Amino acid sequence: MEKYQLYIDGSFVEAESGECRPDFSPATEEPIASVPVASKVDARRAVEAARRSFDSGAWSGMAVRERAKILMRMAEKLASRQDEIARLESADSGATIRQTSFMEIPFGIEQFQTLVEMGERLPTYEPLPWIDVPAISWNFVNREPIGVCAGIVPWNLPFMIAVWKVAPALIMGNSMVLKPASDTPLTALELAKAAAEAGIPPGVFNVVVGSGPDVGEELCSNPMVDKVAFTGSTETGRRVMKLAADTIKKVTLELGGKSPTIICEDADLSVAVDGALFGTFFFAGQACESGTRCFVPASIYDEFMARVRDRVTHVTVGDPADFETALGPLVSQAQLTRVLGYIETGKREGARLVCGGGRPAGMKKGWYVQPTIFEEVPNTATIAREEIFGPVLAVIKYETLDDAISMANDSIYGLGGAVFSRDIPKAIGIAKKIRTGTVWINDMHLLNARAPFGGYKQSGVGREMGPHGLLEYTQVKHIHVDLALERSKKFWYDYIIND
Ligand code: NDP
Repeated sequence: MEKYQLYIDGSFVEAESGECRPDFSPATEEPIASVPVASKVDARRAVEAARRSFDSGAWSGMAVRERAKILMRMAEKLASRQDEIARLESADSGATIRQTSFMEIPFGIEQFQTLVEMGERLPTYEPLPWIDVPAISWNFVNREPIGVCAGIVPWNLPFMIAVWKVAPALIMGNSMVLKPASDTPLTALELAKAAAEAGIPPGVFNVVVGSGPDVGEELCSNPMVDKVAFTGSTETGRRVMKLAADTIKKVTLELGGKSPTIICEDADLSVAVDGALFGTFFFAGQACESGTRCFVPASIYDEFMARVRDRVTHVTVGDPADFETALGPLVSQAQLTRVLGYIETGKREGARLVCGGGRPAGMKKGWYVQPTIFEEVPNTATIAREEIFGPVLAVIKYETLDDAISMANDSIYGLGGAVFSRDIPKAIGIAKKIRTGTVWINDMHLLNARAPFGGYKQSGVGREMGPHGLLEYTQVKHIHVDLALERSKKFWYDYIIND
């Protein structure tokens, strides 16, 4: 069993307390690694190292193409151990090996490379119009790194979500302290190994494994941190924003969701049915943009549901390490209890259970839940309003498209959404009316490092990835160069000086 250490100031070190704890597999409930338990003291050490490295200019002052070379080397190190990292991520988070091997880790590495490439090319000089009142002056904007950024990530897709923060922060010249979720710390520490091997200068990238209330809160309130990039629940996001407010830090928040999937009458049902199931059951429903509310027109409802009943039997639950498994366990015992609680609430509130509804029979160990579908769910039901973060789909019948759009928007969340239709102009019209940061047409979940990702309403603030996400890691400086060098031309000085 590997014993991991914190990564602070370019060295792998024990927590200051010397304390370690086991890290558990969601499939076997057995320990798979030992991780340090960091405290506020360790978080402060990491922030101080990040501050020193930033202020020294060793990274922030390096030419962007040099930073890009080093970061590309880091991506190569990750790629050379891709299969090992995929196995580790699956063992740590419960994500299926199919998902980590074919999607999360390779896409995560590719997204890392794309973000570095985009950041390298992003102009840091932005010309402004020449201004000749009151004097001729040359004005431009210089894009600069912000300083020390804290990255706080959740347990779902832990490697990929860390990449969305680490690559943009570092290519834009910032230093970073990364705090992974307590349930899934391992691949963040693999990122640290790759950073060390690639030759990122000490202090520029640090990884501190510790609890939200200790390490997380220290990062959000430490005056030496300039920006917090947080992904997690809306409730914790609120706390992060409040803590960051004391020192007016910049924040980007990627929070919860309850994404609507609108099936149109003219949808290709083989795509729409599998799309709706993929939208909900990917990573056992533990994705923030999951399409957990599916709106189906009354005119095709019976046919749609008959196909759903058939196709859901192909979503096989089992050991995440088996390539045949489509749906693995939830990440933790706490998450299992929470999801089973929501399923009971759905039953109690009168939604009709189509399939699933509990733990799979015969699986004695592991935090598994069956793929669960409820129908005849009113959009006002708890399971249609609150984020469950488990494999639970609420199917909602609608009469008119206007009704479907209005129910889709009747949510505190606004992260993702999907429209299934053969009529692309019509689908784009619907997508424009859905108040969320991303809408897929005839698909779900496909995220692209060149496109911004983030939420409307209580799903977040700011964007990750794409040029918009890279700019979130920069400061804007206006530089004004006055070209009138003679004192006699600077009549505005006379406003306060009498000659
Ligand atoms: P949490 O909000 O509980 O935790 C997220 C991270 O914040 C963890 O690292 C956690 O540490 C840390 N944290 C907890 N409390 C604090 C605190 N007081 N101050 C600072 N940091 C803290 O979310 P989950 O881990 O339960 O993740 C699931 C949630 O994340 C879902 O609601 C989901 O929708 C959302 N999510 C959003 C995404 C998006 O892009 N919009 C993407 C993925 C997930 P610890 O683990 O130690 O508790």
